[in-house]
Amino acid sequence: MNIEDMHFGRSWEGTRLEDECPCPKAPCGLVTGVLQSGCPEHDPMAAKTMRQGHSAADCPGRDE
Ligand SMILES: [Zn+2]
Ligand SMILES: [Zn+2]
Repeated sequence: MNIEDMHFGRSWEGTRLEDECPCPKAPCGLVTGVLQSGCPEHDPMAAKTMRQGHSAADCPGRDE
């Protein structure tokens, strides 16, 4: 599986952190696997823990 096909989130649930960041988002509201440098939450160099993740194939989309 390709990292680009993964969606990640920094919260245990929900997408609050992702809602407020500049990264490209998947339909589910998480960021896509290509992590963005310059984002305080998702910059790969920040080495933050990603607490949610799923593959694009398993993406539930946004059901709100
Ligand atoms: Zn971000
Ligand atoms: Zn998704």
